[in-house]
Amino acid sequence: MAALPHNLQTTPAFTASDFAVLLGLRESAAPGAQIPEGNEYARTSRMDLYLRRNRQDSGEQQSVIWAKFCAQYLPATVERCINLPFPADWDPNAVEDFLLDNAWMNMLVAVQHTPYFNRYFRSSSPVADPGKRFPQVLAERFLTLAPRLEHEISRSSPGHPGRQERSKFVAAKSLLILGTLLRLSRLEPRVLLPRQLVARLSSFLRRWKTRHHGVFLGAISGRLHFFITARIPRPSPAPDPPSEPPVKPMRKPCSLPSCPVRDNLQTCGRCRTVRYCCIDHQRAHWEHPGGEHKLKCHETLY
Ligand SMILES: [Zn+2]
Ligand SMILES: [Zn+2]
Repeated sequence: MAALPHNLQTTPAFTASDFAVLLGLRESAAPGAQIPEGNEYARTSRMDLYLRRNRQDSGEQQSVIWAKFCAQYLPATVERCINLPFPADWDPNAVEDFLLDNAWMNMLVAVQHTPYFNRYFRSSSPVADPGKRFPQVLAERFLTLAPRLEHEISRSSPGHPGRQERSKFVAAKSLLILGTLLRLSRLEPRVLLPRQLVARLSSFLRRWKTRHHGVFLGAISGRLHFFITARIPRPSPAPDPPSEPPVKPMRKPCSLPSCPVRDNLQTCGRCRTVRYCCIDHQRAHWEHPGGEHKLKCHETLY
C-alpha cells in the first residue's frame, strides 16, 4: 500500500486521477496506488483521508478537481456504487455498514452539489437489477441499516469511541444524497420509490426529525420526509380563469458573477453546465480571476 501522508497540511491536494485510481476506475503504475478489489475497508479509509485533505482547500479549488473528476468518471462511480464488491477485509459484525459507507458512495456525497452531478442525474436514471433505479437501491440500503444506525446514534458506546458520530455521519449523508437524487430526477418520488418503501422510510424520518431537532440530521430528515410524503395537488375540474400571469420559477442568472440577466441565456456548448447572456460575458468568465471557467469546462460522454 502507498505510504499515507502523515501531515495532511503539507500534502498536495489529491487530483481527479488520484481519486479515479483509488476508486478502481483508472490504472496506475505507481506502486501501491491501486487497492485490490475486496480490500474495501482500506479503500474507504484512504478515501476519508483524501477527502479530508482536499477539504482544507478553498471551495473553488475543490470544485476544479470535482469538475474534472465528474466529467470523466461520474457514470463509472455510480455504476460501482450500484454493484459493490464484497468487502473481504471489513469487520464481519458490521459488514452491512459498507452498503452506505463505501468509497464510491462517499465520492458521490462529495460531488453531489456540482453542476456535472446535476446534469448527469437530470438526464440519466441509472438502473440496477432487477429494474431498480438508483434512489430505490439507496433507500433499501438505508432501511437495512437504519435500525442499527438509530440504536448507535441514541447512545455512546465506550467500547467503540467515534461509533456514534460515524453513525450520525453515515445516516445524514445517505439521506442527503437520497434527497438530492429524488429532487434531480424527472420522475415523482412515488414513481421512484414503491409505496411500501416510502412508508418504512417515513416512519424513521418522522422520528428522527423530532429526535434530532435543531441539528443537521434532524433538518435533513424533516426535509426528506416532507418531500417523499407531500401530496401532489390534483388539477381542479373547472379552474378559475387566471387573473394574473402565472409566476415563473426564478431562473438562474448569467454565470458571469454579478451579471443579473436571466433571459435568453446561451449554454456553454462544451460542458453545458453554465449559461451566459452574451458572448462577452462568456469570454470574461473564461478568465474570471478566482473562478476561471476554463478550469472547470470539460466535455463529457453523458
Ligand atoms: Zn451576463
Ligand atoms: Zn463550459
